[in-house]
Parts: sequence; structure tokens; C-alpha cells
Amino acid sequence: MRIPALAPLTLLAIPAAHAQEQPDPARLKASVEKLVGFGTRHTLSVTDHPTRGIGAARRWFATELSRIGEACGGCIETANLARTFTNDRAPNGVEVVDVLGFQPGRNAKRVVIVMGHIDSRVTDPMNATSDAPGANDDASGVALVLEAARILSKEKFDATIVYAALSGEEQGLFGGQLLAETAKERGWTVSAVLNNDIVGNTIGQSGARVADRVRVFSEGIRQVESLDDQFARRAEGGEDDGPSRALAKAADDVAGKLSGGLDVVLVRRPDRFGRGGDHTPFLKLGYPAVRFTVGVENYDAQHQDLRTEGGRVYGDTVDRMDFGYLAKVTAINVATIRRLASAPAAPASVTIGGALASDTSVKWEPVPGASRYRVHWRRADAQDWQRHVDVTGSETVLKDVIVDDNFVGVSALAAGGSESLVTFGGRARH
Ligand SMILES: [Zn+2]
Repeated sequence: MRIPALAPLTLLAIPAAHAQEQPDPARLKASVEKLVGFGTRHTLSVTDHPTRGIGAARRWFATELSRIGEACGGCIETANLARTFTNDRAPNGVEVVDVLGFQPGRNAKRVVIVMGHIDSRVTDPMNATSDAPGANDDASGVALVLEAARILSKEKFDATIVYAALSGEEQGLFGGQLLAETAKERGWTVSAVLNNDIVGNTIGQSGARVADRVRVFSEGIRQVESLDDQFARRAEGGEDDGPSRALAKAADDVAGKLSGGLDVVLVRRPDRFGRGGDHTPFLKLGYPAVRFTVGVENYDAQHQDLRTEGGRVYGDTVDRMDFGYLAKVTAINVATIRRLASAPAAPASVTIGGALASDTSVKWEPVPGASRYRVHWRRADAQDWQRHVDVTGSETVLKDVIVDDNFVGVSALAAGGSESLVTFGGRARH
């Protein structure tokens, strides 16, 4: 932030948060235009052409990440993940390649993942040759990932940040599955997965402009919950407090503190009605994962052959996008990653007690690197945490909080105050 010559003195004390670099709409636009310039990025498109097809697009993304890594003295390492997938949208098998950038934190095995999908499509999901600009779906998400890397590469974190451009989303969420299974195989502790898919338009199908909000989709009850945990949750509550819902609430909290930020609409569904995305395979493995998508979609600009019919224009083109809006969605991602990658991991489990008593007792598993813990509670008819107390150690008693009427959760805090996700107090969490 540049300080005007005649600024009042109070403006000179700029908090660190305000001095941090902001996402740049022009740079986001340049990234989207570059991606659109590859003609099609269909998963089955040509991979060895220098300027057309998904191969060229992936190489460009890797080069951009490497360039960002060089600018921070090698703080980002790029790597490809590849596996052949076969299904009815890839009947002859296709090598799906995810392009990743790793920004190692003090903890190499704990990760915060921010991702978009680099593949695009038109009306026929098997059409790998027609121009498929995919400006919003999902060059917007990939551009956001690069912009987040540019900003966050200038900082140091406890968790490792993974910047990901996934492939094969439109053929069957292949790239998301590949990355989620890789996380499992490599034993990563996944603190958060931020999936950004269609994050750059503000004019919806009806023509109305919605520029003041972004939807964050999350599951409340974990897909992987065991039968025992289902019974425990039925007795104890926790339908609105699974790890992915806690992540959505954290993003909402972060967005509320950004000046000029967007309102987060916390949609209490894993994805849009009847649809899925690259966060879905992460949910299948029990990781906290959410989807960011624009406040209002325009279906004429999704999965459409470029054409005009009866005066109506179809196609996912750059001119339909709003890069100031995309910059704001990027800012929410950046601030959410900054918080969660700076914080310790969330407590693995929290248990509560206090039946037939006036107080609630709370215990949790200690977290390596935590300086203290924040015990949250809320009345059982509320959805947002209402009160909290910071404590050291791994247990406390909340005086005059009746366990029947309140929900409790615990987060871990770094010495600097960064807060992890809140782990719900109850057996169904772990
Ligand atoms: Zn998409």
C-alpha cells in the first residue's frame, strides 16, 4: 500500500496484514487468457503440440510455478503426478497428469492444498479437438492457484502448501482422485483442501449481476463416517460440524475480516445439487475439503460449443468474466491458506463430559507445535461459535455450561495466534 503524501498520521501505522500483497486482477486475466490460448485443454486432446492442447497448457503452468519458485530462492518445487485412467469418457485409457507445486513448510507431511482443474470441454464430453476455452471452468481456478503461489511464496509457513492444476475433471474427477489417493499413500496430514472451480463470473443465467458473494460448498456429516460414529453423532450432535464444514466456517470467518472482501455463502451441501467436483474424492477419503464457486452461474457459458443460436451466445469465453471479482475470491483463498498453514494441525479428537452436572468438561489430544488451545462453545440452537476461552494443557472445565444445551469444539493456536480448524467435541469426529 502506498501512503499518500498528506495521509493523516494514524494511517502510517499499517498493520502487517494490510501491507501484504493483494491479488492482481490484471495478472489473473493474463493467466486466463494464456490458458484459453491453448485452444482446447480437453483431457484427451493433443499433448505433444507446442501451443495447443492440454500438454502445452500443463507445461505452461509448470513453467509459471517454476518461475515463481525461482523468485523466492527455490521455495517451490514442481512435480507431476500421472496415472492412466479408463472409463466411458476415456474408453481407450488416458494418462492423467496433475501438475503440482510444493512449498515446503516446517512440517513436510502436513499439507494445505489449493487447486483448480486445467482441463476444459465443450458440449460433447468426448470432443477433444474443438476450441474449448474453459475461461471460467476452470482457467479461473488455475489462475487463482498461480496468483496464490505468487503471494504466499514470499512467506514462510508451518504446513506445506500444495498448489495444484488437476486434469481429467470433466472425464471423471480423475485428477482429484489421483491427488487424494497420493495424499493417503504418502501419509500426509491434510489440514485443508480448497477446490476452486468456476470462480470468475458475476453475470448469471438470468442476466442479473451477483458480485457480493461467493459460495463455499461443504459436507456437514462426513461421507466416511463409520456406523459406530453415526450412532455416536445421533446421540451427541455434530451434523453441522464435520471437518469440511469447519473449513467452510473458517473461510467464512476469514472472509468477514477482509476489507472489501466478499460474503461467503456457506452452502450446507458438499456441492451444487446433483453435481460434484475435484474435492469429492478427498471427501471419500475423509479429508476436510470445500468447493468455491461463484455466487451465480451462467449455464450458457458452461460446457458449450462456441456458437450463437437465435441471438443467444454460448461459450465459456474471457469476455464473460469479472477479474476484480476473481481477485476477491483469490484473496479469501490466500487469507484462509495463510491462517491454516500458519496454525498447528487441528486436534485429532475432542471429548466432552458433564451429564447430570452444571459444568462441561472438555479434553483433547495435544497437537505438536500448539502454544495453546481455544475452546469454543455455542448454544445448541446456534450454528456459529458464540464464546471461547484460551487455555494451555489438554483439558478444561467450562463452569456453568450445561453439556445438554451447548456444543463444544477445540482449535489449536500457534504462538502468533493463527488458529487451526475447530474439532467438534464428540466421538463422531475421529
Ligand atoms: Zn469445472
